[in-house]
Amino acid sequence: MNINQNDEEFYRVRSSLLPYGRQWIDEQDCQAVEKVLNSEFLTTGPMVGKFEAAVAQYTGAKYAVAFSSGTAALHAACFAAGIEEGDEVITTPMTFAATANCILYQKACPVFADIDPDTYNISPASISSLITSKTKAIIPVHFTGQPANMKAIHKIAQEHNLVVIEDAAHALGAFYNGKAVGGLNDMTMFSFHPVKHITTGEGGMITTNNPQYRDSLLKFRTHGISRNPQDLVENHGPWYYEMEFLGFNYRMTDIQAALGESQLTKLSGFIQRRKKYVQMYNEAFKDLKELTIPFQDQLSDSSWHLYVIRLNLDQLKVGRKKIFESFLKANIGVNVHYIPVYYHPFYKKLGFQKGLCPAAEKLYEEIITLPLHPSMTKQDAEDVISVTKSILSHYSVHS
Ligand SMILES: *Cc1c(COP(=O)(O)O)cnc(C)c1O
Repeated sequence: MNINQNDEEFYRVRSSLLPYGRQWIDEQDCQAVEKVLNSEFLTTGPMVGKFEAAVAQYTGAKYAVAFSSGTAALHAACFAAGIEEGDEVITTPMTFAATANCILYQKACPVFADIDPDTYNISPASISSLITSKTKAIIPVHFTGQPANMKAIHKIAQEHNLVVIEDAAHALGAFYNGKAVGGLNDMTMFSFHPVKHITTGEGGMITTNNPQYRDSLLKFRTHGISRNPQDLVENHGPWYYEMEFLGFNYRMTDIQAALGESQLTKLSGFIQRRKKYVQMYNEAFKDLKELTIPFQDQLSDSSWHLYVIRLNLDQLKVGRKKIFESFLKANIGVNVHYIPVYYHPFYKKLGFQKGLCPAAEKLYEEIITLPLHPSMTKQDAEDVISVTKSILSHYSVHS
């Protein structure tokens, strides 16, 4: 830490970039992976089953099915839910493109509901206004780890006989109304990308309480193939299997599963560390006029995947871009979550236009994601706080 006179003088420049998210890998993780490398199974074997059982237990779901990525898992969930050509599926634009892409993989039509301006999660009122006779499912995203309004979403789903698939890529370890995310609805997706709560390099999981969904998910991840004697139309002998539908190779390896199982044992500690930094940020920022800190919903206990500040642009002399660039110059690795999905050229070509979700579009202009992950230190968090305060006070209309 030193004041770099060659750069802007109103903030301290860190000597190295602090990323917005980062994995935590320790000796226990390395040993778990090494053990698999020296074992009989490299791809789907006993460790995948163990990891699935551990995630099911953690989330309180009956079943868990592992996949090669969160995206593959969500695709499989869309298939298992029976989403197909001609269907409409309601989701939020404040998410990573994968959420909506999975609807398109099934040749169905994504319908974007606007967000709640306080929680930034999908708005139940907006969902209700978009339901048609073609609506098949709702995919809420627990944005930043804070569960969406599942009471209201559940009620809408029951009234209209819709499947609910939760995108909980941010929300492993989050609670809603006292219950762990993962056991609440039809299906829930988790991602194990390195910036998420626990990692398998790449990987994902669907949790469900429904044995039929589990059966479809298992077949979908391996080409639509079944070896269960009761599924087979013919049976030529012990070698025989049948492909029932067009599935994929979406399998997780035992190497990944061993890492995941080892990581899961540390999840509570990871979330505790995240919460400690969130408390520091909230405390430091709560009285600043130039930003709004994250809103905490009463029923939700967030797992704090991301810490998103909202700039109060009427209190600032410059726009979000200038503020963002100042963070980068100070070596604070900020990010923006998210560019509304339908802003992407691919979605524009499908006919989606700006103006569709005004609250999400306004939010997009004002947000910055600050670094938050368990492997950062208290000093890192203090750097983020001092740089944020310096930048905002420098550009404040009051200075
Ligand atoms: C990370 C993420 C995904 C995709 O997960 P992958 O494991 O990267 O395929 C989907 N939705 C959201 C909200 C995510 O953050």
